[in-house]
Amino acid sequence: MTQSYDVIVIGGGHAGAEAAAAAARMGARTALVTQRRDTIGVMSCNPAIGGLGKGHLVREIDALDGIMGRAADASGIQFRVLNRKKGPAVHGLRTQADRKLYRNAIQQLLAETQNLTIIEGEAADIEMENGRVQSVVLANGETFNTGSVVVTTGTFLRGLIHIGQETTPAGRVGDAPSVKLAQRLDALGFQLGRLKTGTPARLDGSTIDYSQLEKQDADEHPVPFSFMTKAITTPQIACHITRTTPETHKIIQDNLHVSAMYSGKIEGVGPRYCPSIEDKIVRFGERDGHQIFLEPEGLDDTTVYPNGLSTSLPANVQNAFLRTIPGLENVRIIRPGYAIEYDHVDPRELLPTLESKRVAGLFFAGQVNGTTGYEEAAAQGLMAGINAARAASGGGEVVLGRMDGYIGVMIDDLLQYGVTEPYRMFTSRAEYRLTLRADNADQRLTPRGIDIGVVHNERACVFTQKCAQLAQLRSSLRAIVLSPAQALQKGLPMNQDGQRRTAYELLSYPDVDYAQLAAALPELNVFSAAIIEDISTEAKYAVYTSRQKQEIEILNREAHLKLPEDFDISQLSGFSNELKQKLLNFKPRTIGQASKIEGMTSAALLLLASYAHKHTAA
Ligand code: FAD
Repeated sequence: MTQSYDVIVIGGGHAGAEAAAAAARMGARTALVTQRRDTIGVMSCNPAIGGLGKGHLVREIDALDGIMGRAADASGIQFRVLNRKKGPAVHGLRTQADRKLYRNAIQQLLAETQNLTIIEGEAADIEMENGRVQSVVLANGETFNTGSVVVTTGTFLRGLIHIGQETTPAGRVGDAPSVKLAQRLDALGFQLGRLKTGTPARLDGSTIDYSQLEKQDADEHPVPFSFMTKAITTPQIACHITRTTPETHKIIQDNLHVSAMYSGKIEGVGPRYCPSIEDKIVRFGERDGHQIFLEPEGLDDTTVYPNGLSTSLPANVQNAFLRTIPGLENVRIIRPGYAIEYDHVDPRELLPTLESKRVAGLFFAGQVNGTTGYEEAAAQGLMAGINAARAASGGGEVVLGRMDGYIGVMIDDLLQYGVTEPYRMFTSRAEYRLTLRADNADQRLTPRGIDIGVVHNERACVFTQKCAQLAQLRSSLRAIVLSPAQALQKGLPMNQDGQRRTAYELLSYPDVDYAQLAAALPELNVFSAAIIEDISTEAKYAVYTSRQKQEIEILNREAHLKLPEDFDISQLSGFSNELKQKLLNFKPRTIGQASKIEGMTSAALLLLASYAHKHTAA
């Protein structure tokens, strides 16, 4: 008898693992079909999780009880908060991960997930009936019935690896490409595009001379990704920094004609924000050196990942240019770098649930949608898994908006604008970033997760207790009201304007920290460091958060406000020329339509609304 599942996820990468775990947490009988069980959770490229904008995604995934944050905490060997000099809203949580420990952690978390079966095999076909998904057929002919399929095939669809002038069909090094499934999606009429990405050579760390290189240590107090992790217990290690030299650049320049990317062999578009070393030399040739981070791949693994050296030059050229870099004079290459080209689905084919418009019950998530990065993939996988489970159970759709989180920003960007190059997350993509902070991801999303049933009881309890403590500290701070004279007497800075202020308001001042308050007001000494940190950040952003909330309310109200037809956009002040040009090209009729323009900010929309009102009144 043919076996059946509520949800079948195809692919065991970062999107697939998260999709399968989410669907199963929602109570759906779920199968994860993947080519090789032992490669579930493998990091195809850099051994790191998080970074600017990406760290926010991991926190949001965790807030909805996803697995990426916990796996990163179990395997992180160099935790660092990036952008620390800037405000907490744009801090980037990042850790280098021990590849093996990360993969093991993901596999362990999936093994512990109820309702989840893992099936080893290549999904070769998706059968349909009346425009709806009906079953998944494996290459060996086995068939599984289902009403919801999530495709998360990453770089595997018609994947082609390039090293210099050599080309090999592969999904990534060591793995076969997925050709039949790509042909099936093509036949179904999906708009497929071609993208590329690349990875550097892997180096034998025992042949690197670190003595002359700058060392970068982990943070003294590692900040975990997961709201469930109490402490990081994995040993922390250092990485080293080196630079390319004029000699390196010369070798690369002289060999561009044999680089797969520069000899015209690759048609796909690559990630602008993660360029190959060839790209960097061509685009920024005048620089005398590019920084390279030498990142160990594991605690008991001597392999080193040279971050910043992705390349598709022939192996002998890679060997030659590497040896011109300080510390790498005698380096041994374990595996050369390569570029990979693959098919992706145009994300404009998708609904906000990540279900395709073309075939009911068929969802897509991850790199197959034109994104790059583990975190972007996992975040989409989570949402697709939730919605696939919902579709199977007849529940309503679950969609996060731009105001809810970075996940909402990313999915909205993908659906509205499609991709012209691999899409990656940045804090600058989120217009409400002062509100959408990594520290408050649980407060923003966990209640929603509890409502829809994707959050386990254990996390729900931890979250409820935390909220109670936050509320207690908030109300204690608000209950303390000081006059300027009282504040002065206690040594606390306050404007001497006669106005009384609460301790919560004082905490929002840039020059007041909690320790100062607690020194003057001993009743504040009973709270835990974590709760104090959260409330301190919340207070510092309180003014901006409430302003953004008001802006959101106004813009929701004004969405249907009409822009006058004789509106002379070129005369508008306060708009960049780029935005004016976009307005001229797009010709929005309402504020709602204007808000869909890429790069449109809420400040610009408010200005536009005010112009429209004035124009109508005149
Ligand atoms: P993947 O992790 O690729 O997982 C796909 C999964 O699908 C695999 O488990 C595979 O076995 C399975 N699968 C495929 N087809 C089938 C099928 N028909 N049946 C069953 N299972 C199937 N990201 C960056 O952010 N920066 C970089 O510099 C970068 N460089 C990269 C370089 C290379 C060479 C590669 C390969 C990737 C690179 N990435 C980079 C991308 C990063 O690896 C991906 O963003 C991330 O792994 C995407 O996750 P995913 O789950 O969408 O797909």
